[in-house]
Parts: sequence; C-alpha cells; structure tokens
Amino acid sequence: STFQELGLNQDLLNAVSDLGFTKPSEVQEKAIPTLLAEERDLVALAQTGTGKTAAFGFPMLQKINVDSRTTQGLILSPTRELCLQITNELKLYGKYCKGLNVVAIYGGASITEQARQVKRGAQIIVATPGRMKDMISRNLVDISKIEYSVLDEADEMLNMGFYEDITDILSYTPDEKSTWLFSATMPKEVATIARKFMYDPIEITV
Ligand code: AMP
Repeated sequence: STFQELGLNQDLLNAVSDLGFTKPSEVQEKAIPTLLAEERDLVALAQTGTGKTAAFGFPMLQKINVDSRTTQGLILSPTRELCLQITNELKLYGKYCKGLNVVAIYGGASITEQARQVKRGAQIIVATPGRMKDMISRNLVDISKIEYSVLDEADEMLNMGFYEDITDILSYTPDEKSTWLFSATMPKEVATIARKFMYDPIEITV
C-alpha cells in the first residue's frame, strides 16, 4: 500500500516525500489506518528500526490541533537519547504542520529552559519519566488535556524502574484519551501496564 492509502493528509504526505519514504513499513501499515479512523488504544510488539516512531507519530500529528497551544500528545520514552531522537523525527514528519511545537523533556539538562519551551505552547511533549514527574510536581507542565499518550519501549522503561513514575504521570492525564503502547517484548509487567491503562486495545505484532 501507499502512505496516501493509509489516510495521511497532504502536509504529512509532503514530508514523507521529502524524506524519501517510498512505502509504509509493516507496523505503519497495521497501525496508521486504525489509529486515524478510531479513537482506540493500541498495543504493538515492535522492535526499534521497524518504523514505529512514524506508526504513532503520523496519526498523532494528523489528529492534534496545531491552532491550539494546549498540550495534546505525550510520549514517554526510557532514555534521553531516544527522547531526542523521537523529537527530531516528529519535527521532520511535522515540518509542514504550521504552528506545530514539539518539546523534549529529559534529565541532565536545564529544567528552566525546558519549562520555557513548554510555556511557549507545546502540542506534543516527548519525555523521560523522571524529568516529566519533576516538571509536573513543580507545576511546569499541564498534561490535563492530553488526548494521545504513547508508552514507547515500555519493556525498557519498566526494566529501568519507571513503573511508579509512569503510573504517577498518567494519573495527571484524563481517563478519556487514547493510549498507544510499543514494546519489543511482552513480559508480564508490560501486560499488567496494558491491562491497567488500556481499554480493549488493538493488538499488533511485527
Ligand atoms: P524507528 O523504528 O521509528 O526508529 O525508525 C527507524 C528509521 O526508519 C528511522 O530513521 C526512520 O526515519 C526510518 N523510516 C521510518 N519509516 C520509514 C519508511 N516507511 N520507509 C523508509 N524509512 C522509514
């Protein structure tokens, strides 16, 4: 299939074309049409390198309202490196989404500077759990209007001991949102998180 057949809008198709992506990867083919068409939760078993960032990134970019400065999308990822990588990819995918602001939040860098970026209005925040919790407790972010949340590399985040932080962070988001979980493996801790936070998810394996 083509990206057009998956239902991407013209702004995203133009970015796809600039990036030279000729056809959707398997996880993109399986996830994008349903995520675009329905407000559904998703559990995807997918390794890094499968194109999973675009599998959740394109639907999120297409569904958020860039005319609003409200934070509508939250992506949690295990490391600073991954957080920056996802942020950079989303900026590339959303290069024609006028008014889009994607902000990365991670430890080991100035919290004041990150807070300043958030304050300018970030529709999407990509964060590591520890720094995100810190920002919430200092009232430097508002995630009470989140509509789409992604748990990326969920198995890694749980391995790193972020279970408490994740449950804490999600408790500040509304119940009526979509949650999309990506994991390379499905140990019982990940299944528990999925059961706790998701309702009747679409399940995808690549
Ligand atoms: P990811 O699994 O999201 O880390 O993506 C791995 C790499 O594949 C990234 O550099 C993406 O930019 C690239 N990529 C994602 N989707 C496609 C696609 N459909 N065709 C070619 N490259 C892609």
